[in-house]
Amino acid sequence: MTFRVLEGTSAAAELRAEAAREAAAFLAAFSRPPGLRVILAGDDPGSAVYVRSKEKAAREAGFAAETLRLPGSATESELLGRVSEANRDPSIDGLLVQMPLPAGIDARKILDAVDPAKDVDGFHPVNAGLLQQGRPHLVPCTPAGIMELLRRSDIDVAGKRAVVVGRSDIVGKPMAALLLAANATVTMAHSRTRDLPAICREAEILVVAIGRPRFVTAEFVRPGAVVVDVGINRLEGGLAGDVDFESVRAVASAATPVPRGVGPLTVAMLLKNTVRAANARARNLTPGLWPPPLPAERGKNN
Ligand code: NAP
Repeated sequence: MTFRVLEGTSAAAELRAEAAREAAAFLAAFSRPPGLRVILAGDDPGSAVYVRSKEKAAREAGFAAETLRLPGSATESELLGRVSEANRDPSIDGLLVQMPLPAGIDARKILDAVDPAKDVDGFHPVNAGLLQQGRPHLVPCTPAGIMELLRRSDIDVAGKRAVVVGRSDIVGKPMAALLLAANATVTMAHSRTRDLPAICREAEILVVAIGRPRFVTAEFVRPGAVVVDVGINRLEGGLAGDVDFESVRAVASAATPVPRGVGPLTVAMLLKNTVRAANARARNLTPGLWPPPLPAERGKNN
């Protein structure tokens, strides 16, 4: 059987170019670029790298992007104050608070404080709820990027058996919701799943997001399956995914590598979300559970 390496780099480049065109159209329509604010608290080295690449990609696409850096000693109320400031700033369309936060800060409290209309990570309960109801607005970037990769690789998911391993709010759950919305038949697996290899072998599309280096081997893979590896594990020898790529390539029809697989799509989708949030806010089209503006107020936001 022929095997395809599903690299995310070219799909990510296409998405970034699309976001740049959309940002230029937004600038022409509203006389300002889409605005992205990233809040980074503490000195986690991995977070610093991610934040730099997000800011750089946003600037390259023509966004107004800036990172607010706070020390590791920042308190919860200080962080809530910074989130509230960004919520009220009309030039900011997308706001994200980089995880992990320093010890002692309740991450859920901070994420819940982000205006759902600016929540470009898609982590707010309003955006999570909209996704579950099949009317997505701002969708978590990694699973949204995986759907784009599948679509752009001509992999149709409708009617297929899909298994998602991992049930986090940022990857596993939204991934399952997106696959379901695309008419796959979806099973979710996790650390308490009995006979995980057998469940995984039912999958025509297998998505793995568990944070366990090279955990999934050929034994977990149905012949001809498409395997998507979300894992990013930092080992002494470099990055490793959750899938043992060399083992599964003997059985699968396609698989994403690590690095250069899913990773590049996450930043690209952040740009797409930011321009989407900007357009929705500027045109008063933001859906959701918060009160919509009165007709007389429409058009006043920008
Ligand atoms: P997480 O919040 O730690 O969740 C891990 C999930 O995996 C949990 O649901 C856990 O089950 C499940 N799990 C752990 N060990 C398992 C096992 N042995 N068998 C079956 N399930 C198991 O992790 P996450 O944030 O979703 O991230 C997962 C991985 O993706 C990490 O490597 C992370 O770095 C990577 N990631 C990559 C990107 C990207 O841009 N490529 C973005 C986000 C995350 P329980 O719920 O039962 O504990």
